[in-house]
Amino acid sequence: MAAQSMDQLVSLCKRRGFVFLGSEIYGGLQGTYDYGPLGVELKNNLRQAWWRSNVYERDDVEGLDASILGHQLIYKYSGHANTFSDLMVDCRQCKSRWRADHVVGGKCERCGSKDLTEPRPFNMMFKTQIGPVVTDDESSLSYLRPETAQGIFVNFKNVCDSLSPQLPFGIAQVGKAFRNEITPRNFIFRVREFEQMEIEFFVEPGKDGFWFDYWVNERVSWWVKQGLSKENLKCFEQPKNELAHYSKATVDILYKFPHGFEELEGVANRTDFDLGSHSKAQKELNIQAKVVENKDSLAKLAVLKLQTNEWIVPFVIEPSAGLDRGILAILNEAYHEETLENGSKRIVLKFKPHLAPIKVAVIPLARNNEELMSKAKQLRKDIQKLGIGRIVFEATGNIGKSYRRNDEVGTPICITVDFDTLTEGSDLKDTVTIRDRDTMKQIRMPIAKLADYLREYFASP
Ligand code: ATP
Repeated sequence: MAAQSMDQLVSLCKRRGFVFLGSEIYGGLQGTYDYGPLGVELKNNLRQAWWRSNVYERDDVEGLDASILGHQLIYKYSGHANTFSDLMVDCRQCKSRWRADHVVGGKCERCGSKDLTEPRPFNMMFKTQIGPVVTDDESSLSYLRPETAQGIFVNFKNVCDSLSPQLPFGIAQVGKAFRNEITPRNFIFRVREFEQMEIEFFVEPGKDGFWFDYWVNERVSWWVKQGLSKENLKCFEQPKNELAHYSKATVDILYKFPHGFEELEGVANRTDFDLGSHSKAQKELNIQAKVVENKDSLAKLAVLKLQTNEWIVPFVIEPSAGLDRGILAILNEAYHEETLENGSKRIVLKFKPHLAPIKVAVIPLARNNEELMSKAKQLRKDIQKLGIGRIVFEATGNIGKSYRRNDEVGTPICITVDFDTLTEGSDLKDTVTIRDRDTMKQIRMPIAKLADYLREYFASP
């Protein structure tokens, strides 16, 4: 099961502190969202799972964290300054503005008028100005990055010089990207500030077809490991006439969001477009500036192949996933409404354990007993030290209420400390009750065995 509508998710996210509208107390800032106490944990966990699979568990990928502000020349030579646009139309009746391909049936979404302007391009990059001096020319112009990728291309030589990698190898990066979307919509699906998780995987030209297929498969299986079901995922090959300016082939990995099948991640064969273009820029700019006389010593964005001693400008395969869209997909998939045997309803988020924002809630059976409270508090501290994620102590005095609350935020395990835990001479002394979120089954376990049990339960998939 999944959520029946986006409204269900939006309401749960607000109620339980996953996601809030950005700048809400000032009426909201369209296209921005803020992650609350549980949202930030979920986001950290998904980001970490991506990093673990794509950097730590591989021998051929290294990480990078480049700056968000970029030199205007990066985006001139990457092609974004000229071509990173969507087509937009204006409604002549109500003056609203729409992305041309979002105007279904040629009618304004707000007032239904068909009196629309011709589509014209709108560049989606956010501009800013560097330094305190406002200049009339564009010399202080800089952009907030519209994709994390360019930070990788412009650091390609730095990484090669410091690590001397051989092909194939990848550079991975997670970070914010900014796009002035004409019509942000569908909650955190289309926003103006979001996070991408990207790998630029550099390969020998000629081997790009193989690696392209490899990454499409790899990425689909990764999403399945995060809990998305196969039926809710499908691949869509972009028609040649719709490809981005840098791409030879692109497969969109689509997920069935509450508003329909839409892109969760794109895998593109960017060829040698970016490295080629930035190399060309080095030549042009240095020659203009007469910085170097000898052209051969100019920065080569290429790799020296040891066997043949030749310089190769690699092709690059780029799996580019949206972290926020990932969060929306995970929330949607995890969302379940169940009717219990006694007829009552429960909402439960069935996150994979490694993604759950709260891993364990430790609950004393009663809150008016000091010994019980301090035993439970100590247990929470001890479990927190295992390094499996966020552990909470929760003393509501109402165990049923605690279980429901934790179901609704997806806590996989609740541990209850009761009077038997404390009773000298009892068989149950120093044991606790462990309750499973999905089955609601309870077992009794000695505290001494908890660490091993929890470490195994929360191990990476
Ligand atoms: P779309 O066609 O939906 O606008 P795109 O093809 O422009 O997306 P890419 O440039 O391929 O997107 O970006 C890679 C990934 O970054 C996307 O698959 C998506 O997950 C994420 N992404 C792109 N734009 C946004 C946005 N405005 N809000 C949230 N995530 C985004």
